Amino acid sequence: MFAQRLAQVSESATMKVAAEAERLRRAGHDVVDFSVGEPDFPTPDHIKAAAKAAIDANFTRYTAVAGIPELREAICARYKADYGVSITAAEVLLTVGGKQALFNAAMALLDPGDEVITHAPYWPTIPEQVKLVGATPVIVQTDWRDAFAVHADALLAAITPRTKAIIINSPANPTGALVDEGCVAAIADAAAARGIWVIVDLCYEYLIYEDVPHNLPKVLFDRHRDRTVLACSASKAYAMTGWRCGWTIASKELTKIFNTIEGQTTSNITSVTQKAAIAALSGSQEPVAAFRDEFRRRRDNIHAWLTVNPGIQCVKPKGAFYLFPSVTGLLTGSVKTSADFAQALLEKEHVVVTPGEAFDAPGYVRISYATSMERLREGADRILRFAESLQPANANAGR
Ligand code: PMP
Repeated sequence: MFAQRLAQVSESATMKVAAEAERLRRAGHDVVDFSVGEPDFPTPDHIKAAAKAAIDANFTRYTAVAGIPELREAICARYKADYGVSITAAEVLLTVGGKQALFNAAMALLDPGDEVITHAPYWPTIPEQVKLVGATPVIVQTDWRDAFAVHADALLAAITPRTKAIIINSPANPTGALVDEGCVAAIADAAAARGIWVIVDLCYEYLIYEDVPHNLPKVLFDRHRDRTVLACSASKAYAMTGWRCGWTIASKELTKIFNTIEGQTTSNITSVTQKAAIAALSGSQEPVAAFRDEFRRRRDNIHAWLTVNPGIQCVKPKGAFYLFPSVTGLLTGSVKTSADFAQALLEKEHVVVTPGEAFDAPGYVRISYATSMERLREGADRILRFAESLQPANANAGR
């Protein structure tokens, strides 16, 4: 009855957990929610002021499909200042969040039967969008013992004559891992030689907590501008998830194709959002630094608190705002999988975490630290208590 292309596409796996959490909340329980995928901070005042001024000035009509020139220029200036990369406004197109940036790339580049290589644990939208346009995701696994490192040779070994694109997400959701500049350069060189596109999801690019080089826009654009798509977003860096503002950076030719797709679907991103985004990108970057500092403190604390239990095995993530521990050391009795773990933790301690199964990574859980330090402490205490309740059974199982 419904279109064939949806047959392979899954609904968000996190929905079930969210529904259960909501049920407990409504029943009056104090639920600690570690499933949140967005900053808990309000949008900074100067960004909101720009939007209010835009409304008052009646900036409320259709805009150019790609976005207003001032905003595209502001994006070019931001990337020039931050990465030293030269991009022109004709290579930038505004999208309804980073999600549409990735979707436009899938629509523009993929045909049914094409293969797209990406790394797991992954953000589910990446493979689901690939399937939505009839192509096939090819998954290369990474492991916590190796800090979820993506290795160029592993990704390149997955290339077949059908490979059309490689999608890299750095910093990654759910692992918080960064993909090394050298690795990206090696992948891009090998991909370009075979006519394969490299799409990089940079949605968390401003949430990096270590002083490590992550100049992916320059690495890619200086080498293979005509084979690269950067998918970016104001959502996480500026606490603007609800405004729906993302953008692609790609060659002029490909940007023209994106323009056609967008012109026939959403037309343009919200006019008022565009004025807010100019303030975000051209104004003081102080709020971004403040968010980053606070996320870093939370990361350090939640990591230290939880890894007191040796059954919670976790590398310290370098970016994004998630911890992605392996809990296999705690699985016992009726709690056989990370999905069981998440369900039992919710029932017993009213803490919501997202099971690794949602990210093609059974054995792990995702813990978002986009919540206050106080709630992090409370949730960590409950998780530790729950972990301890599992351990005696674990010891028995070993006998
Ligand atoms: N990429 C990744 C890895 C994400 O986690 C998200 C949001 N959860 C996005 C892209 C898109 O976010 P938005 O559409 O709000 O820009």
